Amino acid sequence: MADLNPTSGEIEGALDRSQNLLPRILILGGTGEGIELATRLANRKDLRTISSLAGRVREPKRPEGVVRVGGFGGVDGLASYLVKENIRMVVDATHPFAVQISRNAELACGRLGLPLIGFIRPPWVQTKADLWHEVADFREAATLVDRQKGRVFLSIGRQELGSFAVCHGTWFLIRAIEEPTGPLPDLHKTILRRGPFNLDEELQLLRDHSIDRVISKNSGGSATYTKIEAAQLLGIPVVMVKRPVKHAIVTVETLEEVILEINRLVRSN
Ligand code: NAP
Repeated sequence: MADLNPTSGEIEGALDRSQNLLPRILILGGTGEGIELATRLANRKDLRTISSLAGRVREPKRPEGVVRVGGFGGVDGLASYLVKENIRMVVDATHPFAVQISRNAELACGRLGLPLIGFIRPPWVQTKADLWHEVADFREAATLVDRQKGRVFLSIGRQELGSFAVCHGTWFLIRAIEEPTGPLPDLHKTILRRGPFNLDEELQLLRDHSIDRVISKNSGGSATYTKIEAAQLLGIPVVMVKRPVKHAIVTVETLEEVILEINRLVRSN
């Protein structure tokens, strides 16, 4: 089993020499699907994977197999890494809102002529029972909720919380995995918890804090959908932040498609 040291940025549990001739696939992860893909490929005798995590949280969930942690140093750093590690294919399984790493991967792979598979999980789709207000970005979400005031549940990760520091008359329940470090809105309570959360927990949380508005990224997937379901059941409006454009290349929405592409590469090796 590979080891993982969030501060090193180096590979641990390195590939042994006998595995050097097998095609190496870099999985850009930090998502449940990145972990699932690494698990599904872990026992393959015809390829090797390296999972890459940004290192945003101190104790990330660990994919199976070899893991490296930390940024590459932009497009140039990523391109150098791909050459140095003799990577044959890159799978971008990062979060739908992680745009920079995907752009870097396109540029680095384009420069080296390496195949890149862009996996993006499907977005959530509004149902008749949902009360969604879709907005283009976090700034628009902040303007909207601060106009309406009230009590808002904010569970969007730590990086975008600064957009809500401009809100002065709105109370926020902020949920994050680790303590936020940047500017925050005047009126807030922070709770530190790591998902997934079941529906009952989400219903309880929204009720206990008399929440009347939820702000969410349209992340897609099942891991964080229960808060959307809870809002729906309680008739609470959701300010849904639309996804940014992540890739210029054609992308796939299932891991089965990713594995088909990988199999094609391995056959042609
Ligand atoms: P980002 O804005 O697209 O990337 C910023 C920088 O972080 C990149 O330029 C790269 O640094 C580094 N980076 C990002 N993902 C990396 C990876 N998998 N491996 C190595 N370096 C990576 O990314 P982000 O939105 O900060 O997200 C960071 C990570 O958290 C991603 O892996 C993503 O899957 C995960 N995540 C993000 C969200 C979200 O809402 N954004 C939610 C859940 C999980 P260098 O330029 O130095 O290479």
